[in-house]
Amino acid sequence: MPMHLPTFSQRYLQELPGDKLTTPAARQVHGALWSRVLPTRVPNPRLLAYSQPLANELGIDRALMGEASTAAVLGGNALWPGMAPYAANYGGHQFGNWAGQLGDGRAIVLGELLRADGERFEVQLKGAGPTAYSRAGDGRAVLRSSIREFLCSEAMFHLGVPTTRALSLVATGEDVVRDMFYDGNAMAEPGAIVCRIAPSFLRFGNFELPTSRGDIELLQKLGAFTLRHWFAHLGEPSKAAYAAWFREVAERTARLMAQWQAVGFVHGVMNTDNLSILGLTIDYGPYGWIDDFDLGWTPNTTDARQRRYAFGNQPAIGLWNIERLGLAILPLLDDDETALDEGLQAFQQTYAAEASQRFAAKIGLIFSSAHGDGALLQDLFTWLGGAETDMTRFFRALSSVVTLPAAPTAVPAVLAAASYAPISAAREESCVAWLQRWWQRTRAENRTPEQIAQAMNATNPWFVLRNWVAQEVIDAAHAGDLSKLHTALTVLQQPFQEQPAHTAWAEKRPEWARSKPGCSALSCSS
Ligand code: AMP
Ligand code: MG
Repeated sequence: MPMHLPTFSQRYLQELPGDKLTTPAARQVHGALWSRVLPTRVPNPRLLAYSQPLANELGIDRALMGEASTAAVLGGNALWPGMAPYAANYGGHQFGNWAGQLGDGRAIVLGELLRADGERFEVQLKGAGPTAYSRAGDGRAVLRSSIREFLCSEAMFHLGVPTTRALSLVATGEDVVRDMFYDGNAMAEPGAIVCRIAPSFLRFGNFELPTSRGDIELLQKLGAFTLRHWFAHLGEPSKAAYAAWFREVAERTARLMAQWQAVGFVHGVMNTDNLSILGLTIDYGPYGWIDDFDLGWTPNTTDARQRRYAFGNQPAIGLWNIERLGLAILPLLDDDETALDEGLQAFQQTYAAEASQRFAAKIGLIFSSAHGDGALLQDLFTWLGGAETDMTRFFRALSSVVTLPAAPTAVPAVLAAASYAPISAAREESCVAWLQRWWQRTRAENRTPEQIAQAMNATNPWFVLRNWVAQEVIDAAHAGDLSKLHTALTVLQQPFQEQPAHTAWAEKRPEWARSKPGCSALSCSS
């Protein structure tokens, strides 16, 4: 019986201007938002893993995922009917500087999957070979970074953080040469391709590029397309609709920043080409998860000196990026800077409210300034940052302290266990003082301690995909063992659930991981 294949639409290609050329030769592309390009063949596409929950959501059945012909499509060697591959043209600010045209240098959109209910999802291969935008790059991706993107996309989704998704991880059977530490030691590594899914992969940089070239007509076309398809609730394109749109993108980005902070996710490369117009987490490169609560921490070695994208800077950088977007779309706002200012203010207000609410929830509270919750949180951050304390373990353990019959008079063992070194007497004292204040405050909530504990456990994850866990999966995969990859994929699907069989992965960072490459810090080489 012939397998039921998904249906595809091509709105981006049909409604927006494209490049006349179709070769993958690197070039500057003017007056066009996309360039057709076919994925480059790979020797032996092999499906290593896929996300069953996402396949279900897309309406792709299990039998189809198991077909060799599907691995060929997800590895870039074949197309399903209706697919029309292209690379998108965009620019961006990288590390604070305008970088000009960037574009999909190793991502190729295969098409827009049209689900039976009318919902659409862009299907994109990352690592599928060169495009017009590859510049000096090879258009490929290595297995290690593909495992990281595949797993973290799904981990974020299950944590409830807006994100692009990852359908599949395919090994290409071909080596890719990378200088992992940019130190002159290039090595051949196995290549892979991740199939990413999102309603749209549009980035801030897609809007910046036309404006930077004075091509306002192209900007208007892209603006109208974006509004009609993704923000239809704001009405037909007009100055007012664009102002409302800018405010909404600012608010979505602010909420995303609050969610990253609340789960301890550090993106690592918040360039404007890596910020989604839909407020999704996009482009998982040298990201990392906070082990000890350190606002100055960055996983990205390329940013080790400047620390522009460090944990504590993410909200401010989100705002900086929103300002870049606002300046890029000023022509759509009739150059009215008040609309720009309103968007920036909306970002700040939304971030403040969302972060307060999310961090209060982490300590079991409905945020109340009347109760002094702002100061309570601030004092906790100060204490956490005072000596190495594991963020995830600490917050998770608090739910078993909230149910104690009286305010603690010593640091409970579950909390002490979140510390990376023995707690000093002075820190013990300040911790107990804070715990007493907090425990008393929880008694002013209109909920039982058990209800509070339950709510805390639904907001403080038991499992996050720490770099050293991802590295264990990668090391095993390099040795031919995919069992850890498959285990990780199931563990991350229930991050709020304690999973006794996998406690080793929910522990604080082990000492060996402190300095091991890939576990503490990563470069952009991927
Ligand atoms: P990223 O830092 O991954 O967001 O990438 C920044 C830009 O470099 C984007 O335009 C990417 O498409 C491009 N790029 C990154 N790696 C490669 C590669 N191996 N080959 C071609 N282009 C790449
Ligand atoms: Mg990128």
